[in-house]
Amino acid sequence: MTAALFATSGWDAIVVGAGPAGSACAWHLARAGRRVLLLERHHFPRDKSCGDGLTPRCLELLDEMGVLAQLDGYGRIARVRVVHRGPPLRQRDFGYDGVPGRYDYGLVVPRMRLDQLVCQAAVAAGAVLAEGIQVRELVREAGRALGVLVDCEHGPRALRLDAEVVVAADGANSRLAAGMGLGGQAGQLGFALRGYCEGLRGLDPCQEIHLPLADASGDYLLPAYGWIFPTSATSANVGVGIMGRTPLDDVRRLSTRFWATLRASDPRFADARDSAPLLGAPLRFDFAPERCAAPGLLLVGDAAGLTSPFTGEGISYGLESGRLAARTIDRALRAAPRRPDVEDDYRMLMAHHFAGYFELGRHSARRHLLFWKVLDSSFDSERPLFGLLRRAALLPEGAGSGAGDSALMDDLGPVVGRGDPLLRRQLIDIGAALVAVVRRDWPFLGRLDSARGAARGIVFRPSLLMLLAARFGAADARPLRRLGVALDLAYLGLMAQSGVEEDLSGARDNWSNKFALLLGDFLFSHALCQADPDDAIHADAIMGALETSCRGCLAQLSTAGRVDLSPDVARSQLADRIAPLFILPLTMGAAVAGAAPGVAQALGEYGRALGLLFACGEEMLAFTERAPQAMAVLASDLTRRVAGLPLLYAASCQPAPVQAALNADPPDRAVLAALVALPAVRAAMAGEMARHAQDAGAALRRLPAASAAAPLHALLRHGLERWRDTA
Ligand SMILES: Cc1cc2nc3c(=O)[nH]c(=O)nc-3n(C[C@H](O)[C@H](O)[C@H](O)COP(=O)(O)OP(=O)(O)OC[C@H]3O[C@@H](n4cnc5c(N)ncnc54)[C@H](O)[C@@H]3O)c2cc1C
Repeated sequence: MTAALFATSGWDAIVVGAGPAGSACAWHLARAGRRVLLLERHHFPRDKSCGDGLTPRCLELLDEMGVLAQLDGYGRIARVRVVHRGPPLRQRDFGYDGVPGRYDYGLVVPRMRLDQLVCQAAVAAGAVLAEGIQVRELVREAGRALGVLVDCEHGPRALRLDAEVVVAADGANSRLAAGMGLGGQAGQLGFALRGYCEGLRGLDPCQEIHLPLADASGDYLLPAYGWIFPTSATSANVGVGIMGRTPLDDVRRLSTRFWATLRASDPRFADARDSAPLLGAPLRFDFAPERCAAPGLLLVGDAAGLTSPFTGEGISYGLESGRLAARTIDRALRAAPRRPDVEDDYRMLMAHHFAGYFELGRHSARRHLLFWKVLDSSFDSERPLFGLLRRAALLPEGAGSGAGDSALMDDLGPVVGRGDPLLRRQLIDIGAALVAVVRRDWPFLGRLDSARGAARGIVFRPSLLMLLAARFGAADARPLRRLGVALDLAYLGLMAQSGVEEDLSGARDNWSNKFALLLGDFLFSHALCQADPDDAIHADAIMGALETSCRGCLAQLSTAGRVDLSPDVARSQLADRIAPLFILPLTMGAAVAGAAPGVAQALGEYGRALGLLFACGEEMLAFTERAPQAMAVLASDLTRRVAGLPLLYAASCQPAPVQAALNADPPDRAVLAALVALPAVRAAMAGEMARHAQDAGAALRRLPAASAAAPLHALLRHGLERWRDTA
């Protein structure tokens, strides 16, 4: 091999480190026809300290390289189980079936095997592998990486190898990153330790994560977690991880305590035997886009700090970043075959894919006590806000999983379709700006787009209505983007506040309420900043609409639990609460674009009727299996015992059962759903919605012809069809 190194020059890329990240990068480069040299200090098969857990995203990336087909013998993992170590001890399963993408399972594959397979795939694709090569340092000139200096196990030392681009895939202790001044931030390193054990009983096919772990006294919660990943029906990879710089002895003690707890209190571990010595390694979860590249050098995988701060998962980020680096290099070489510029493109791509999730992780690691408390307090809550938080934080799935333009549009797909590219573009711009505005402080909001499935983020965006209304005017619509962001932020703020729940325990601090209020305030304040820094009119309009909406909500709460309310009163409360969210964006869009007099009024009337139509549909939806998709601001009504129109109609036929089921603790959703499904109730709701649809249609007919007419009609149809789907 050394001879080959001497004989061959002119590498397009040298990849240092043949872990998953390096081998994936080499595979993609080789497939693109690039000359790539992969350097590894060890010989395969070699072990690597790891939990061996592979997520669906990982499988997708491995499949692309033809590796997945070779993993047939490993049992499928159906879900992640998060065991919240309390007290009390609680657990929650996150099925992999809700994850976007092609695979609905995970695997546990020892690294001794996995890494060899990925590396073999790279070689089969055309990469040149050199094992037993220790890379000493980068060769640099005028701040640019030109190659590496290596020591060969059975050959020359301090050998210089040149390439157009160097890829550092040399793991968490990356020498190359440090050599270029791109090393990790102090205090942001973690450590994890794993072992294998046999003789287990009754293991479920799930990747089990236990958190948070406590110190020796049991009183002080550490930013630490443990895991049990089954390697077969009777064996598992078991380990612990901790965030923050921690002396190795402390990590060992943490591990001893975790194993002892399992042996003492978990019947599955009664006869457990260790089958391999403990092996540990640092965790790097300090990814920052600005530190993942330098002239001529790209960092991938752990070298770039891409280990999940929540779960310690890093293989998928390694594979994904390897692929992104390869793509960047290939594209840059096409533009400039010699010394191409790669760093800016790569930084941008990496920021898009990973920044949100890792920012969230860094914040949580720093404020882990707050994070654990919120998690503790909201662990059993079904409110969308907390569902989102749990999914974003606990489900170990790559932030890059399908997030992008199409995902940002998913909730609006039925209305906008693909036939209106301008509208799509505007909405995507607003979505991206929205995410950018909030991500720094509450990065999990950056994952709204990929948190589809069990907990949907936004199913309604005021900015869509505003953009459509603006088409009735001709004025320069430059402020539309900012206003769109402001309106969507205000709506998200309402959604956060709807996550506030009554503290039924009364005994302990309700951290989820504090968090929801804090988040609501944060979003409102950002909405106001975006609205218009110089002109208070828009900010006032937004605050006015929110106030009306909150008053409607309070009015509903003041009559909560009552099933003898007249539908007229309930309808007017509902209108106060929901209609402003529809009226405001429409009238604001028309005003900003200078639409003709009368247009804003007709749009406002359309908005009121459309709001009521949607709200009625969502109230019905809340009683079906699609309840988690119901509009976020309405989703918590039943737990607060707000009867709503469907229940009031049901009570007009059968008052006693409705009252009893609503008063139950918690309200008996199944009984109420059966009552709402009565033909008389469905007929009453159908009549209710038909009237709102007629009102909206009449308002639309008063509007002049404009390109917005078709989408406004489509929205109306969508409102009716959403409801019909529940039949
Ligand atoms: C205890 C533990 C448990 C974990 N559990 C999981 C899990 O369950 N699931 C998951 O997805 N992730 C897990 N991770 C994270 C995961 O192991 C890493 O994120 C992943 O290995 C990163 O891949 P990589 O290719 O970037 O680096 P690595 O896998 O570390 O590969 C780096 C390679 O570079 C080589 N190298 C280093 N320096 C040089 C040099 N100077 N010259 C030549 N070669 C060099 C090394 O020998 C190695 O082969 C865990 C980590 C730890 C420590």
